[in-house]
Amino acid sequence: MASSEFCQDKEVKVPLSSIQNQQTEHRTEVSSLQKPKAVRDGQYSDPVYKKLSLINGEINKLTKDQLQAKCAELRLDTRGMKDILKKRIKNYYKRKKLMKARVHPPEGSKTPYDYLLVIDFEATCEEDVENYNHEIIEFPAILVDVQQNKIVDEFHSYCRPLLNPQLSKFCCNLTGITQSQVDTADSFPLVLKSMEKWMESQCLGSERSFAVATDGPWDMSRFLNGQCSLSDITFPQWARRWVNVRKTYANFYQCRRTKITNMLENLGLTFEGNLHCGRDDARNIAQICIRMMEDGCVIRPNEELRCWTPGELRAYSSDVTTATLTHSNICEENKSKKKSPRKSASVDVVSAFSCLAITTQADHNDSDQEDVEDLLQYYRLQKS
Ligand code: AMP
Ligand code: MG
Repeated sequence: MASSEFCQDKEVKVPLSSIQNQQTEHRTEVSSLQKPKAVRDGQYSDPVYKKLSLINGEINKLTKDQLQAKCAELRLDTRGMKDILKKRIKNYYKRKKLMKARVHPPEGSKTPYDYLLVIDFEATCEEDVENYNHEIIEFPAILVDVQQNKIVDEFHSYCRPLLNPQLSKFCCNLTGITQSQVDTADSFPLVLKSMEKWMESQCLGSERSFAVATDGPWDMSRFLNGQCSLSDITFPQWARRWVNVRKTYANFYQCRRTKITNMLENLGLTFEGNLHCGRDDARNIAQICIRMMEDGCVIRPNEELRCWTPGELRAYSSDVTTATLTHSNICEENKSKKKSPRKSASVDVVSAFSCLAITTQADHNDSDQEDVEDLLQYYRLQKS
């Protein structure tokens, strides 16, 4: 179907045949028990939702060229892969139709914070060393104003490591951070203090609400958590909950969790600056958040720091270990190391969880399996 047939004067014209098909499919495929809770509770009972579902069905049929033409016609960004363009157009109609019908979407339609605070730590490291005691050496924080949907300020500082004051060649090459940049920097506790002063100057946590956002679970759970233990300081309250942007992205665009460069590529954007430079990483993660919010994503914290009791850890890890074992990469890796896959993966899961200390918050599309893969990947420092 040509895109001009699909929508005239920005009003969707849905052919009758497709409406009938959709209704039949709906009746035969979805029993009332399978419907999402909000539907069963009648939160989607307004007729506008039926209309939206028909519109979505039509959008699903469009080719990539038609989707791009539709985006151009609606003055939306035409960049990005097919599924992202679909989501963008669906959100356009959702916003428009709900507003017209004066219906508030049950899940809320806007990110419920004044700001997102995007953080991406860089830390001391060595190649292929598990259980390395990372110390934070770069602390960037990018402030995204949710209302304006743009970066409005940033904090940046290098930190001087105390345990391993000499950066490895591997670390300098990976992060682009030089020995003299860390030699002349303050130690982490002082940098954290200046960062919190900067937060105060922005009224973060007082007059202005904010959510911390990071690429994956590791920045807060591994780097900040580990650094606070090493520096013998209390883990900051404001960092206990955060948005795992990979997870939000995958749930919103209905794809697998993936790294920053892939998320950007799927959106039709490119990484600006140098990968593994904390400030550039954080700015690019902020761009992903901005794009997601433009596409209608509601960004909320989805992970938090927790202290596992040994019993909880054992129970959780034995639950997820079985699932993890089916993952081919781990099995392949274990095969090549000629180890028993069951034993090795189980040990990794327990170690990863105890070291990373996170819990995830209910997000209907989340899978334990993906959480475990995320944790293991990072525990083994195979993040990128
Ligand atoms: P990133 O945010 O991906 O730049 O990574 C944050 C930190 O993780 C880096 O500063 C390193 O300390 C560590 N890291 C990332 N990738 C690796 C790797 N391949 N090997 C060892 N450490 C790594
Ligand atoms: Mg980084």
